[in-house]
Amino acid sequence: MSALLLDGKKLAAIVRDEVKAGVAAFRDKHGRVPGLEVILVGDDAASVVYTRNKEKASNEVGMRGKLHTLPASSTELEITALVAALNADPAVDGILVQLPLPSAIAAPDVLDRIDPTKDVDGLHPANAGLLLLGRGNPLVACTPLGCMRLLELAETNLKGAHAVVVGRSAMVGKPMAQLLLGAHATVTMAHSRTRDLPAVCRTADVLIAAVGKAELIRGDWIKPGATVIDVGINRVAVEGGRDKLVGDVAFDEAVEVARAITPVPGGVGPMTIAMLLANTLRAAERRASAPFRR
Ligand code: NAD
Repeated sequence: MSALLLDGKKLAAIVRDEVKAGVAAFRDKHGRVPGLEVILVGDDAASVVYTRNKEKASNEVGMRGKLHTLPASSTELEITALVAALNADPAVDGILVQLPLPSAIAAPDVLDRIDPTKDVDGLHPANAGLLLLGRGNPLVACTPLGCMRLLELAETNLKGAHAVVVGRSAMVGKPMAQLLLGAHATVTMAHSRTRDLPAVCRTADVLIAAVGKAELIRGDWIKPGATVIDVGINRVAVEGGRDKLVGDVAFDEAVEVARAITPVPGGVGPMTIAMLLANTLRAAERRASAPFRR
């Protein structure tokens, strides 16, 4: 039997429409539109595409989106000076530093300088810490937030379900596990040192793959009826010298076993940008109502 396809493109369009309406309401109430500033350091080809898409997407929902491109040779001081200027600018609601930064720059030293109330990537220790503690109303990383919306679309009952998150990055795996815990799932985190990963995956009612290894997770690793969210984006060569994108899950095999599954592309990817817009609107609304509250 073929699984239900979780169409991230369609869901992202719905989220963007919600944000667009929210932006219009914000403008009517506050006489300005939310502002998202994206900082790109260097000219990594994928990052150039991602950051342009973020700028374009924010403008499309009526926000003021702006991309700052700094040379790869920029010093930490130059980058943090821009972050400080954006922190101080009341018209800026969201600041995103595109990762990875050039290897000479320590990413945490830059990310920790972002005002937590403008940290729309949810990577500041203040936001990540509140998420971990289950306290307050932190800004949360966009990709895991998008995964939660996809799980809602799948009508997956998370309460008491066993969720396995493969991958433990600060950007995806760790916040994903926290969100699932917050939704009352029983969560197992798996990673590169996990013993017998196939056996661990087979126990998952909900399987989140955030690894970055093309089609690592095979169909026979999936529990029949599971919900599978594939975060991975991997470029692989196909015949004719062209490339195609595949996820961390062998889709053609998994689709025969799972109850619901995200495709790659068209699953988690579009949701990440949509949730970035939603986070920027939320940051703007919070700053407008309680500018000094973290
Ligand atoms: P990362 O490299 O920071 O982390 C990868 C994680 O996978 C690590 O925790 C590592 O322990 C684990 N891992 C590595 N090899 C493994 C193995 N053989 N078995 C089990 N675990 C293993 O990557 P990331 O930033 O978390 O991204 C993961 C993937 O998701 C990448 O393909 C990335 O491109 C993609 N991604 C997609 C989106 C999106 O919007 N769709 C957003 C962020 C990341």
